Amino acid sequence: MLDLVKSALDASKELEAHPSGPTEPALQALEALQARRVTAAQLASSQAGKLLRPLLKHASPAVSQAAASVIAAWKECVRREAEEGRATGCGGGSMATPAPVPSTGDKVRDLCRTTFAAALCLAVEELRAAPSPDEEACATPGALAVAMEEELRRQHGGVTEGYKAKFRSLSFNLKDRKNPDLRRKVLTGRIAPDLLVTLAPEALASDAQREENARIREKKLFDSAPSAAKQPTTDQFQCGKCRQRKTTYYQMQTRSADEPMTTFVTCLNCNNRWKFC
Ligand SMILES: [Zn+2]
Repeated sequence: MLDLVKSALDASKELEAHPSGPTEPALQALEALQARRVTAAQLASSQAGKLLRPLLKHASPAVSQAAASVIAAWKECVRREAEEGRATGCGGGSMATPAPVPSTGDKVRDLCRTTFAAALCLAVEELRAAPSPDEEACATPGALAVAMEEELRRQHGGVTEGYKAKFRSLSFNLKDRKNPDLRRKVLTGRIAPDLLVTLAPEALASDAQREENARIREKKLFDSAPSAAKQPTTDQFQCGKCRQRKTTYYQMQTRSADEPMTTFVTCLNCNNRWKFC
């Protein structure tokens, strides 16, 4: 683009030095520039708009008019770009300016909406950075965030404790830097808002988070044995792995109180662990 700007400027200078010369070279370069679709970023880095400005006062009315047309066309490009940025609700793709979403007048609900919208803006950025031919945003982050929040409220019958708990879980998983898949699926419509708000925490988590959860759960099951109370040793259980009968065990209420306790057994020989009710 700068090459074109330079030839327009050179040709115009030439024309000022020789006013009777042909106007064609300058006008052609300016026409080519006018046809260019430019972005604000391109204009800022090239300074092309500023470089052309002196041509507005060119002695040849044809040249000054053509230069004015270029600048008008470029201004229109920048205006449209800003408008598209607003339409996606992502302020030019920056997380610093999350999507403006309609306020409900309720602080919790508004926080919920802006949090969802911000997470989806992140998904827009990620999709832009790594586009895929069969994936596109099914709606703007703002519109999706509103639909998600409304679905959440409907499912929980208002801004209840359940609403807040689910919001925390959704917010954590949607913003999780290690879980881009979830927000991308929501953005592209593969997980609709009504499905999203009913998904179990396990389904929301990233693979890494799922593994971590499983590890924590197992740790809870096997390592939370009351250490103060000495675990009884018994030969009444046989290890399925090494067939020995040297085991310790403890019992814990893992479900509701009126159901039988779960027994956790550890083989003292090979450390194999199992449980039964
Ligand atoms: Zn064993």
